[in-house]
Amino acid sequence: MAHEPLLKKVAGLLLSVEKINNQLIAKARAKTCEGCPQLDRNSKRCKVCGCFLENKIVLMTNKNPKKLGRIEITHCPLGLWGDKVIANLYRQMDGKDPL
Ligand code: SF4
Repeated sequence: MAHEPLLKKVAGLLLSVEKINNQLIAKARAKTCEGCPQLDRNSKRCKVCGCFLENKIVLMTNKNPKKLGRIEITHCPLGLWGDKVIANLYRQMDGKDPL
């Protein structure tokens, strides 16, 4: 789609609070997402959180657009980045069952 790069850029700006300057973490996250059935391969977005993963994998903290911009520790919503504890913290806040 022609607007995709612009959309990704805007999504990145809206999402971004603080970047991690750690390529290893970003690469490990990208690798996990590449093998995940929740990755929409056409749009490169996570089907669970809706984020553009290119933007999300480099962030340490981000604003969650589904929660009125709540600032969160950037995490995989299913805890697949080795961050189940963090994912469960937000699930608990949102009244969801733990993973
Ligand atoms: S963020 Fe998590 S659930 Fe979403 S595509 Fe990546 S690994 Fe899968």
